[in-house]
Amino acid sequence: MGAPAVLLAVALTTLLAPASGAPIRQQASRNKLLLVSFDGFRWNYDQDVDTPNLDAMALDGVKARYMTPAFITLTSPCHFTLVTASGAPIRQQASRNKLLLVSFDGFRWNYDQDVDTPNLDAMALDGVKARYMTPAFITLTSPCHFTLVTGKYVENHGVVHNMFYNTSSKLKWPYHTTLGIQKWWDNGSLPIWITAQRQGLKTGSFFYPGGNVTYQGEAVTLSRKEGILHNYKDEVEWRANIDTVMKWFTDEGLDLVTLYFGEPDSTGHRYGPESQERKEIVMQVDRTVGYLRDSIRKSGLESNLNLLIVSDHGMTTVNKMASDLVELHKVSNFSFKDIEFELLDYGPNGMLLPKEGMLEKVYEALKDAHPRLHVYKKEFFPKSLH
Ligand SMILES: [Zn+2]
Repeated sequence: MGAPAVLLAVALTTLLAPASGAPIRQQASRNKLLLVSFDGFRWNYDQDVDTPNLDAMALDGVKARYMTPAFITLTSPCHFTLVTASGAPIRQQASRNKLLLVSFDGFRWNYDQDVDTPNLDAMALDGVKARYMTPAFITLTSPCHFTLVTGKYVENHGVVHNMFYNTSSKLKWPYHTTLGIQKWWDNGSLPIWITAQRQGLKTGSFFYPGGNVTYQGEAVTLSRKEGILHNYKDEVEWRANIDTVMKWFTDEGLDLVTLYFGEPDSTGHRYGPESQERKEIVMQVDRTVGYLRDSIRKSGLESNLNLLIVSDHGMTTVNKMASDLVELHKVSNFSFKDIEFELLDYGPNGMLLPKEGMLEKVYEALKDAHPRLHVYKKEFFPKSLH
């Protein structure tokens, strides 16, 4: 047998938003990758030596506690595993891992820093934890969740808002209605549920945005959609939902499940991200993570289920009484009479479609109207927002 484990200690910072795929045609924003291997670097070689540069990299990015090398642990076999990603033998079904992707809506990157979260902390110790994640633009629930399951930026997967809208008919449908509108989701991008099913796997979606319609005629194997007046914060229901998902894995033989919780987003919107109520719901999230990991153990799934906990965006306090509030109707030379269609007062961004011939007038009126108002024509959107 060869030398003990090869360690791949640290991932690059640019991998922190793993599901944000570069736009296909926008070459400039495609990320590059440098994979460096130090042969025979055992998992704990940085623990009896001062390694300030490796430590700094772990702080800026993420770091695995250890890596289990492929068998057999020799240099060429293990390095070829790294560049071929040939994992489990194709015909050996029994050793295939399952994946549970859990999303807690609106869990800002630092919500675990002013609340005791022993279960999330234990999970970070047993696995890896990113310090933060940069969401896709725009930072709304459905667009960002669809980025997570398609690997595409919002402008490429086409789910550009929580609300279905039509600029000609002026129709706007709320989030819950939009969840069931087939053409809003099935617009050419295949989410991971369908890709997995085409490879012979079985998948499930529990309340996850986009999991309730068919894609190119194909539905997710098992899916649940929340009711229209769903109470997002019922902890008893959360546990029942986890029990159902465990049965999906053990009794129904599913390989991939996405599980969505509408908190702490809901409470954050209602009481504010700095409120005591938000801290309490984060404690509930943490208890739920503990219950979930216990359930995984009791269901006998611990050795072949990967658990991934993500969120879609953060949140910030908006003071509607602030002296520097941006109020479009108070801007001189701006009039809603010049606007054909608008989506304002929903999330961190607004959309305006000027009437025919009014684009320049509207743009000139708004572009320097307020130091905190940033206005872009569609074709001149900053590259940093993809
Ligand atoms: Zn959200």
